[in-house]
Amino acid sequence: METVTSSTEKTIQEIWNTRPLIISGPCSAETEEQVVETAERLAKTGKVNVLRAGIWKPRTKPGMFEGHGAKALPWLQRAKKATGLRTTVEIATGKQVEDALMFDVDILWIGARTTVNPFSVQEVADALRGVDVPVLIKNPINPDLELWGGAVERVARAGIKNIGLIHRGFSSYGNTEFRNAPMWHLAIEMKRRNPELPLINDPSHICGRRDILQETSQRAIDLDFDGLMIESHIDPDNAWSDAKQQITPEQVGEMLSSIIWRREDVASEEYHAALEKLRQQINHLDDELLQVLSQRMKIAEKIGQYKKDNNITILQTNRWNEILERGTKEGEKKGLSREFIEKYLDAVHMESINHQKKVLDT
Ligand code: PEP
Ligand code: MN
Repeated sequence: METVTSSTEKTIQEIWNTRPLIISGPCSAETEEQVVETAERLAKTGKVNVLRAGIWKPRTKPGMFEGHGAKALPWLQRAKKATGLRTTVEIATGKQVEDALMFDVDILWIGARTTVNPFSVQEVADALRGVDVPVLIKNPINPDLELWGGAVERVARAGIKNIGLIHRGFSSYGNTEFRNAPMWHLAIEMKRRNPELPLINDPSHICGRRDILQETSQRAIDLDFDGLMIESHIDPDNAWSDAKQQITPEQVGEMLSSIIWRREDVASEEYHAALEKLRQQINHLDDELLQVLSQRMKIAEKIGQYKKDNNITILQTNRWNEILERGTKEGEKKGLSREFIEKYLDAVHMESINHQKKVLDT
């Protein structure tokens, strides 16, 4: 990972194109001193490109700290002047966009609670018309890629050229290891749909706690994310919001040093040849798997015919339990995880039922 010196020496486009793009700073701007000191200590690590701070905070419940609002914008200006770090804040209304731009905020981001609401996203997009500023769009709190993509489209239609995605995980009911379930497959699918947009991971809001921040960040980097947004605070335990997940600027530096930065590709013929050979084998096996699955469906259809002739229901719970039990036992012996086998058998079973239903309906 390259060391950054002073990021105002670079154009905002150069910063935007930096890989990995590292954004860090407090969940909320609390005082001018806190913002400036965080920025100074982050800049000292030499690994951070952009300073984040929430000044309009969408809180789950009333009575929690909702941010200082526009009053905190000059604090960010001062932090930028003192350190050279570019700045980013969350905006959720047209007025907030105007205020942030008036005070030279370099990058705007749309928060998860805003991405869910097309009215709000449209209002933000309308305020962005004719403005040249990069915009990061967090995933909506619910696992809905259409809604995420819709927000991207609204902002793109307003003429914004530099749009990026932030994966911050998805709300789920009940306690889990994560504050917001990462559902990595959704981030991967979003990247597949939008290969031209940088994808940043926000391990802080995914984890909600410090002890798994590093492994989550490493996972994101292994999945070829373009950068990280990590919340940091000069006194994490006493932060006014999200205290449990924040770390000190120095800890951000240490964490970034410990991450193994992987590349998506390398210019080595030997590596490419070896990979190509193995990929051929995988393609071959995938073809065989499909062949076998199609045979399995043909047998299911035959069973469907017998069921039809004898007026029997498609679903037989005992048989399904037997398939699950046999499959997980066999699969686990072969090194497959229980979670995978269950998902796989469930999908195969549903497809089987659909095939049988067609037979019963004809
Ligand atoms: C934040 O970044 O502090 C924040 C409010 O995040 P999210 O929109 O992901 O909940
Ligand atoms: Mn936060």
